[in-house]
Amino acid sequence: MLAYEAALERILAHVPAPKAARVPLQEALGCVLARTVVAGADLPGFNNSAVDGYALCVMPYNDLTHHSLRLIGKAEAGKPFRGLVRSGQVVRIFTGAQLPVGANAVVMQERVRVSPSGVLLSESPEIGQHIRRRGEDISAGKTVLKPGTILRAQEIGLLAALGQSHAAVWGRPRVAVLTTGNELRPAGRSLTAGQIYDSNSAMLAALVQETGGLVRTSQTCPDSLSRLVRTLRSMLSSAKTDVILLAGGVSVGDKDLCREAFAKCGIRQIFWRVNIKPGMPFFFGKKGRTLIFGLPGNPVSSYVTFREFAAPALAKLQGRAWQDPYSRPASLLKDLHVSKSRETHFVRVTSQGSNGTLHVAALDGQGSHHLRSLVEAQGWMRLRSSEGPWATGARVLVRTDGDLQPTHGDSQ
Ligand code: AMP
Ligand code: MG
Repeated sequence: MLAYEAALERILAHVPAPKAARVPLQEALGCVLARTVVAGADLPGFNNSAVDGYALCVMPYNDLTHHSLRLIGKAEAGKPFRGLVRSGQVVRIFTGAQLPVGANAVVMQERVRVSPSGVLLSESPEIGQHIRRRGEDISAGKTVLKPGTILRAQEIGLLAALGQSHAAVWGRPRVAVLTTGNELRPAGRSLTAGQIYDSNSAMLAALVQETGGLVRTSQTCPDSLSRLVRTLRSMLSSAKTDVILLAGGVSVGDKDLCREAFAKCGIRQIFWRVNIKPGMPFFFGKKGRTLIFGLPGNPVSSYVTFREFAAPALAKLQGRAWQDPYSRPASLLKDLHVSKSRETHFVRVTSQGSNGTLHVAALDGQGSHHLRSLVEAQGWMRLRSSEGPWATGARVLVRTDGDLQPTHGDSQ
């Protein structure tokens, strides 16, 4: 049986090169830039006012304090003043409005007194004050974003400010989800004896979204070879399917027909079964460019094998580097025994922090059907059974996925 590390390595080695895509900014969050972005324009694009006030022409060494200046017009954001401002004149101006020709300073409205005879300044302005100069932020031709940048709201805002409606990124993988089992019913329907709700299709769709993929189709099949083959063939026939995520029926029971169905569809098995708990009967295969992940049907097994094996592949398909998430040092709060029957164990933990140290304890209910601890887990440990036993105080590495919130301040 393949070791966890070898399985992950083989999967990553089979991930094809990412595909470039041009996506609207509204869909670009979390995508990885495929190309350098060069500013096509200056930012700001024109000299404009940083405040609400008055634009005027200041001459060097000319103290304008207590001078009464003549108001000749108004400049609003999006509605410039078309005339020329000469010495002794002012134009009412608002934040973001283009600076009128001839003006070289703006006085804040709080610093003037307006009377019927004109605008009186309480202090003499300096040339250039309260003006946002064209190109002061970014000048045209400058590289603003490099390939490999993960687009956050900030980068998306910058692209839009430069007038770009789309971003050149590595495309989101298109995923087909297939859950299998005679016992499955869609949530929202009534159940008869022995039936259960198909929770994996909803969970896997959410995991795909979380990982940046797009669920293109989601289907459920009974344990029927012909139905499985038909559904898989239709998923494979779409040239756009990058990944098929199948859950259930990959083990050794009489109704576990998926591997036979894979073979009938010409899917090449790269490996089947990994020395892990939960998730041992995991299958990985390939047909053309399409990657096929066969996840065991128990919900926790589906969750773990998606996260440990499919998620890194989806990340790589989007041009993201994969980093081992088990990186946070912690100390065990309770003795822990893990069985030697499997090499690598994924264990759900709760956490406590004190004096800057993270302490973790395995949750009760580590079965592959236990959903409560899946929800309650604040982190996960990945343990090799050969390195145990783990006594209280042992050092471990945990993955937290950002959702670990240790409670600080407990006494010690
Ligand atoms: P299997 O991998 O098909 O042997 O299924 C293992 C266990 O997971 C069984 O108890 C199934 O009823 C359960 N299971 C399989 N598919 C799903 C699903 N889509 N949602 C919830 N439980 C499932
Ligand atoms: Mg089954």
